[in-house]
Amino acid sequence: MAVPFRRTSQTRQAKRRTHYKLSMPGMVKCPQCGEYKLSHRVCRECGSYKGKEVVSK
Ligand SMILES: [Zn+2]
Repeated sequence: MAVPFRRTSQTRQAKRRTHYKLSMPGMVKCPQCGEYKLSHRVCRECGSYKGKEVVSK
């Protein structure tokens, strides 16, 4: 099995990781309250889904 000849320097590692992005998949703004929520989920803030279906709270 091939083994790296040198250890990866901190700079090189950091440069590689510039491509890593903070990502929260499926976050959308709630049309009711404007809070960020997961899409296809009931909003935690106002308990609404698709406009009205109010669950609780
Ligand atoms: Zn909401």
